[in-house]
Amino acid sequence: MSVTRNVLEMIGNTPMTAFSKLDTGVCQLFGKLELMNPGGSIKDRIALYMIEAAEQAGHIKPGDTLVEATAGNTGLGLALVAAQKGYKMLIVMPDKMSMEKEYNLRAMGAEVIRTRSDVMKGHPEYYQDVAARLAREKNFFFINQFANPANVKAHFETTGPEIWEQMEGKIDAIVLGVGSGGTLSGVGKYLKEKNPNIDIVLADPKGSILDLYHRTGEFKEAGSWIVEGIGEDFIPSICNMELVTKSYEIPDDEAVKVIRELLRVEGIMGGSSTGTLLAAALRYCREQTAPKRVVTFVCDTGTRYVSKIYNDTWCQEKGLI
Ligand code: PMP
Repeated sequence: MSVTRNVLEMIGNTPMTAFSKLDTGVCQLFGKLELMNPGGSIKDRIALYMIEAAEQAGHIKPGDTLVEATAGNTGLGLALVAAQKGYKMLIVMPDKMSMEKEYNLRAMGAEVIRTRSDVMKGHPEYYQDVAARLAREKNFFFINQFANPANVKAHFETTGPEIWEQMEGKIDAIVLGVGSGGTLSGVGKYLKEKNPNIDIVLADPKGSILDLYHRTGEFKEAGSWIVEGIGEDFIPSICNMELVTKSYEIPDDEAVKVIRELLRVEGIMGGSSTGTLLAAALRYCREQTAPKRVVTFVCDTGTRYVSKIYNDTWCQEKGLI
């Protein structure tokens, strides 16, 4: 391992591990450990790309205020990059997201505004609409991961190639979630270009609209779910759902049980969305009759959910365990 010059150079190049103790049927399951990024999630990659793209386009200069709508992880990545580069950071985050994320963001010098989780896109209190309005009214720069091509580019240029190299090209399926769709559109496109037979498997929380849309092309009204960062009530403009070849709808209790099992048996503490991904990956693996090499993500660190999915009392109150 070489010495890095600064924290930003530590973004990406995350380890890949085999999950050998989980029951994966005839398949081998691997996890790309995005929790090892310095900001603790896969979103550090896009934070760096989106800020540097805005700099290169001449949209921002140090001292400016950036604003973003986020489930928290994009915010944490942006707060890290913004602090290093001298930008002020305003985060708009729905109230269902964990307090750990808010404390972490504030500790990094970001300002945090909470908005309602129970309203849909188009409502004035919806987090993305609030962020867009603040940007307009106060002349802040709106990062907007949901429509920002640098989000997809980060995954096409870094996450995808890393997975291909770490698996030495021997990969049959990738299981991922969609929040902004950046991971799907970047990694999915890269892997499909390398090998069109690779299955791109969507793990969608029950209540989200994406699983039904993939299977039928129909839209339903979104419900609610407790996992943070994935599942949608609309299809973001950067999200290429055409890449998905199979999808699973995962209830919260299944996601929570499996993420707690991952910590006990494999010693890796992932966040709630990783539970959804892992549950879908295990379902996919157990359905196969021929051996396959399947990759999924540990999207973020579980330490930002200790008051929730790793808290027995909270889980029991919510009927999750
Ligand atoms: N997992 C977590 C924990 C996240 O915060 C996010 C992003 N909101 C994702 C997965 C989804 O990734 P993407 O935005 O690339 O679809």
